[in-house]
Amino acid sequence: MPSRKFADGEVVMGRWPGSVLYYEVQVTSYDDVAHLYTVKYKDGTELALKESDIRSQSSFKHRKSQSSSSSPSRRSSSRSRSRSRSPGRPAKGRRRSASQSREHKEDKKKPIQEPSIALPVFVLFKPSENNTKRYNGEPESTEKNATSCIILEQKLKPDLEIKRVLEQYSLRSRKDDKRKEEIYSEKKTFVAVKPIEKVSTKTKEMEFGGRIGTFMLMLVLPATVLYLLLMCKQDDPSLLNFPPLPALESLWDWRVFGVILLWFFLQAAFYLLPIGKVVEGLPLSSGRRLQYRINGFYAFILTAAAIGALLYFEFELHYVYDHLVQFAVAAAAFALALSVYLYVRSLKAPEEELAPGGNSGYFIYDFFTGHELNPRIGSFDLKYFCELRPGLIGWVVINLAMLLAEMKIHNLSVPSLSMILVNSFQLLYVVDALWNEEAVLTTMDITHDGFGFMLAFGDLVWVPFVYSLQAFYLVGHPTTISWPVAAAITVLNCIGYYIFRSANSQKNNFRRNPADPKLANLKFIPTATGKGLLVTGWWGFVRHPNYLGDIIMALAWSLPCGFNHILPYFYVIYFICLLVHREARDEHHCKQKYGLAWERYCQRVPYRIFPYIY
Ligand code: NDP
Repeated sequence: MPSRKFADGEVVMGRWPGSVLYYEVQVTSYDDVAHLYTVKYKDGTELALKESDIRSQSSFKHRKSQSSSSSPSRRSSSRSRSRSRSPGRPAKGRRRSASQSREHKEDKKKPIQEPSIALPVFVLFKPSENNTKRYNGEPESTEKNATSCIILEQKLKPDLEIKRVLEQYSLRSRKDDKRKEEIYSEKKTFVAVKPIEKVSTKTKEMEFGGRIGTFMLMLVLPATVLYLLLMCKQDDPSLLNFPPLPALESLWDWRVFGVILLWFFLQAAFYLLPIGKVVEGLPLSSGRRLQYRINGFYAFILTAAAIGALLYFEFELHYVYDHLVQFAVAAAAFALALSVYLYVRSLKAPEEELAPGGNSGYFIYDFFTGHELNPRIGSFDLKYFCELRPGLIGWVVINLAMLLAEMKIHNLSVPSLSMILVNSFQLLYVVDALWNEEAVLTTMDITHDGFGFMLAFGDLVWVPFVYSLQAFYLVGHPTTISWPVAAAITVLNCIGYYIFRSANSQKNNFRRNPADPKLANLKFIPTATGKGLLVTGWWGFVRHPNYLGDIIMALAWSLPCGFNHILPYFYVIYFICLLVHREARDEHHCKQKYGLAWERYCQRVPYRIFPYIY
C-alpha cells in the first residue's frame, strides 16, 4: 500500500471537518506515523486531515460533468446512482418549494468548492470572509460573552447546519439514519483531528536560528551566566571592564554540587507529598489529559520552614554568597546531565509524545529545544516540577542569602532599603507564580515546548542565578535611595503586578470556563477550533498585556540599584528581548491555530506589547 497519495505542495480538495463541504487546500506535509496530511486552507487555517477527507481536484471536475450533485459524499462509487434515483430526492415532477428550487439552481450553477455555498452554513465553524464581519466589531454581530448560550450555540450549530445541508442537497434518504450516523461520526473525527499544533509531526520550521543558533546558544548561555556573576563581583562592574578568567579548579566544589543535589531532591520530595489538589492539563494530541499535583505553594512554605530552622541553628546562609559562582557552575552541570538523560529517554518515546517544536530530527536542535513534551517517571512530571520549584524557590533563597550577606559585610542591623525592595518585589513574583501554579499548565512551556537543555538550563540555572543579579549586585555595590524614590518604585511595581496578574487571570479564567459570569462583560472572537480570542478587557488593550506588566515589574526591580552601572539593568534588557521573541513565537503558533480569526484579532488589537509603540 503506498504510504501517501498526495504530494507536498499539491493543490487538492479538503473536506472541512464536520461538514460535507470541500475547499481548495494545499498539502504542506504528511505525517506517516499518524497518517495525517497537514493542509492549508485559503484563509491560512492549517488542519490535519485523513486521506479519506482529501480528493484530487480532477476527480471533482470530472464527476461534476457526470452528475449535477454538488456533494462529494455522493461521489463515492457506492453512491454513484443518478440524482433522480436518489431515495432522498422528491419524485420526478413533484413540486419543490420556491426556495428549494432556487437553491437547487444555485447548486447546479456553483461548484461545491466555492465557499459561497458553505458560507451560511458554517459561519461559526469556519472563519470565512463573510463571517469575519461578525468578528470585526460590527455592532449587530460582535460576539458578546453573555453566557454559556453562545458556547452552546457554537457547539450545536454545526449539528443543525449539517442536517440542513444534508436535507437541502438531498444527500441522504430521510429514512436512512445509518448515513446520518456516518456523517455524525465523521463530524466526531473533527474532535480527534486537531489543529496542527496538537498533532505531533516533524518540526518543519526551526526556531532560535536552527541548528547553528541552538548550538551557539548552548555555549553562550552558560558563558553569559558566568560572565555576569564574575562581573558583579568586581569593584568596578563597567561593561568593558572584563573580569579576569578564573582558574578552572576554582569553579568546581563537590560540596556545593552536593548541596545542589540535596536541594533538587528535597524539592522533589515536597512535590511527591500527597497534599494539594490534582488537576488535569490541557488535552494532548492523543486527546489524553495528564494529571498534575498543585502543591508548589506548600513546597514553598515547607522550604521557608526548613530555611528558618537552618537560621535558627545559626547556619551561615551567606555561604551561598561566598560560593555563588560555584553554585551556578554546579547547577549548570546538573542541568546538562539532566538534558542528556532527557534526550536519551526521548529516543524511546512514542511519536505522539514528542514535542511539536522539538522533533526536527537534528540532534543539536532537538537536544536544545526538548524532544519529549512531557517526560515523566511514573507520575513525576520532570518539566512541570522544574518549571516552578527548584529554580524559582531557589531564586528567593539566593536573594535571602544576599540580604544576609549585605547585613554581615556592611555591618548593618537592618538591610538597605534597596535590598528590601528587590527582595520584596521578587518574593511577591515567586509567591504569585506558586499560588497560581495551575496557570503554568496553559503556558507555551508546558503545551508546546519539549523538555530539553533550553528549559532545564533556564529553569535551574538562568532563573535562580541571573534573576537574583540585582540582590547580588547590591551586596558589593551599596545603593542608597530615598523614601520618596522607594515609594515611586513601589507604585511602579504595583502597577506592573496589577496588569500582569489581572491579564493572566482574565485569560486563564476564560480558557478554563468561557461561560464564567465574571467574564460576562468581555467580548471575544470565535475561532474554528471552538476557543475564543478575547478582544476586550486586557487582551483588547494589547496582544500580550501580561508581558507588558512583567516588563514594568522588571524595570522596578532594577531601579533600586541606581544608575551607576548598567549591569543590574541586564535583567530588564534581556527580558524585553526574551518577551519580544517569545511574543513572535506565540503569534506564529496562534496564526497557525486560528488562521483568519487571528488576523482579525490583530486588526482589532494592533499593538503587541507596548501600546502605540510595539
Ligand atoms: P501567555 O500566557 O501570554 O499565553 C499565550 C497564549 O494565550 C496564546 O498561545 C493563546 O493560547 C492564548 N491567547 C492569546 N491571545 C489570546 C486572547 N486574545 N484571548 C484568549 N487567549 C489568548 O504565554 P506565556 O506562556 O508566554 O506567558 C505566561 C506568563 O509567564 C506571562 O505572564 C509571562 O509574562 C510570564 N513569563 C515569564 C518569564 C520569566 O522568565 N519571568 C518567561 C516567560 C513568560 P491558546 O489560544 O491556545 O489558549
